Amino acid sequence: MSLLEITALSAGYGGVQALFGVELTVGEGEFVALLGPNGAGKSTTLRVLSGLIKPSAGRVLLGGEDITTKPGWRRTGLGLGHVPEGRQVFPDHTVLENLQLGAFVHRRSRTRRQELLDEVLALFPRLDERREQLAGTLSGGEAQMLAVGRALMSAPRLLVLDEPSLGLAPLKVAELFGYIKRLHTERGLSVLLVEQQAATALNLADRAYVLERGRVAISGTSDAVRKDPRVQAVYLGGE
Ligand code: ATP
Repeated sequence: MSLLEITALSAGYGGVQALFGVELTVGEGEFVALLGPNGAGKSTTLRVLSGLIKPSAGRVLLGGEDITTKPGWRRTGLGLGHVPEGRQVFPDHTVLENLQLGAFVHRRSRTRRQELLDEVLALFPRLDERREQLAGTLSGGEAQMLAVGRALMSAPRLLVLDEPSLGLAPLKVAELFGYIKRLHTERGLSVLLVEQQAATALNLADRAYVLERGRVAISGTSDAVRKDPRVQAVYLGGE
């Protein structure tokens, strides 16, 4: 059984269909990339996953449990850690407060919350140094680390990231992905990464899916996807 199982998923906005029967799984401890051009339906897939929009057909199972119609907060409780598009941190709250809010989603002992906070601050020393700074004044890379840190505060089984590299300088992207890779290799965290930078994502992931116009066009191990002639031509620029 996979940790995440998306079956025959269709969804859209008003009368406009954006996803057409998408099938996607993430195994326990697996790192999966979701690639594709602008408007392919990557964010829509994640919105269905986090409960922001309701699918018109299909099912989403997390750890074998059907979460298709469950509210977002229940999904967090079941182990879904979502880092939304555009690093949505609370700008008027400090770094520490933003992190603490991440752990308040469901009942946790004070000791466990402190443990989680210590772990996240150890993982991101930069956040530790800036714990009293207002999140709205962080740099782009720091804010993205905070968004990831906050998702980790719910001790997720599956970390879902929507284009964390967007708007970051190449060095910052490398740093952030370094952290994410460590979480995956050292702690066995399962990851679903939506990314436009196909080469970067394929280097990180075990498997990948390429969405095109709301359908899975290509899928397989990262090596197989990287070698696919279409991926070479369209997404990797013949690298
Ligand atoms: P990008 O890489 O540009 O973020 P994406 O693969 O994440 O693209 P989606 O945002 O999932 O693509 O969009 C899929 C389709 O749904 C697109 O045609 C888009 O125009 C449409 N769409 C997305 N959000 C809305 C919305 N709120 N209302 C109407 N249509 C939408």
